[in-house]
Amino acid sequence: MLYPIHEIFYTWQGEGVHTGRSAFFIRTMGCPIKCPWCDSAGTWHPHFMPPTVTRLSSTQLAESALTHQPDCVVITGGEPAIHDLAPLTSALHAKNVPIHIETSGAFPLRGDFDWVTVSPKWQKKPLPECLQVANELKLIVEDTTSIERWMEVLGDPSAFPHIWLHPEWSKRNDSTVLATISNWVKTHHHPFRAGWQLHKNYNVDALDPRSHPQ
Ligand code: SF4
Repeated sequence: MLYPIHEIFYTWQGEGVHTGRSAFFIRTMGCPIKCPWCDSAGTWHPHFMPPTVTRLSSTQLAESALTHQPDCVVITGGEPAIHDLAPLTSALHAKNVPIHIETSGAFPLRGDFDWVTVSPKWQKKPLPECLQVANELKLIVEDTTSIERWMEVLGDPSAFPHIWLHPEWSKRNDSTVLATISNWVKTHHHPFRAGWQLHKNYNVDALDPRSHPQ
């Protein structure tokens, strides 16, 4: 099976429980959710998409990943779950590589994953079946009401092992947003955790020339 690929690159995971671990990223093309602040708009926005789309087989992707012997492979997008990832996860598991996925949770997962990160989006809310298998949630905090509004949708926080609260990246210096996260964690405790996109501070993705900034 051939997958439309925006980029593959070797880096380390900059978010969530596995922060700091070496990771081979596979970023698929396509996302129908269209968040206004998307930091991967090259996967779907006509102004940022490449003129031609690279298509790689599950075998090619697994072999590229194995070259680096990473701690894990992260399949992301775009929205990776719009694709049937079962052939890709079979090929990767045949190489004994742990497979992580980062998804909005708005589409059924096809494939076998060792770690599921769900980052829900308002434009298309997550499916219960995706929330049930989430090893961690990542909520994007845009304003002082974001966390409260999400928890009204998501229900009992104790159903989730970790709920990361990330400032929307353009608001990373907004003291009001940062204080909202800090106060929520100090008031509500586990499973809430203050999060950050640490790889962006390190600019680590750019060390691999195969990565694209957009
Ligand atoms: S779901 Fe993710 S890839 Fe899709 S538009 Fe939103 S931030 Fe971008």
